[in-house]
Amino acid sequence: MSAGASHHSLDIMKRALLASLALSFAWACHSSPPHPEGAAVIIKDSHIHTRYCGHYRFGDQWYFISQHRHGVDCGHVLENGEWILPSD
Ligand SMILES: [Zn+2]
Ligand SMILES: [Zn+2]
Repeated sequence: MSAGASHHSLDIMKRALLASLALSFAWACHSSPPHPEGAAVIIKDSHIHTRYCGHYRFGDQWYFISQHRHGVDCGHVLENGEWILPSD
């Protein structure tokens, strides 16, 4: 019976496929400049953002960076009282 051998080579092919997938994911991460940093958070309706609160929005998700102070060169844009990380 050689069924064991063919199963083994299939396993190797799967592993090679997974490895190349992981590589292309890593590459995609590297090639896209905006990268959300900090922890994803939920903002209360009553919260008012300041330049010191460390919140910013990326798409529909809010993030919090501790010790962050929003400013001219921080990479976030103030829009309608909300700090946004531009996606392009
Ligand atoms: Zn805030
Ligand atoms: Zn900022």
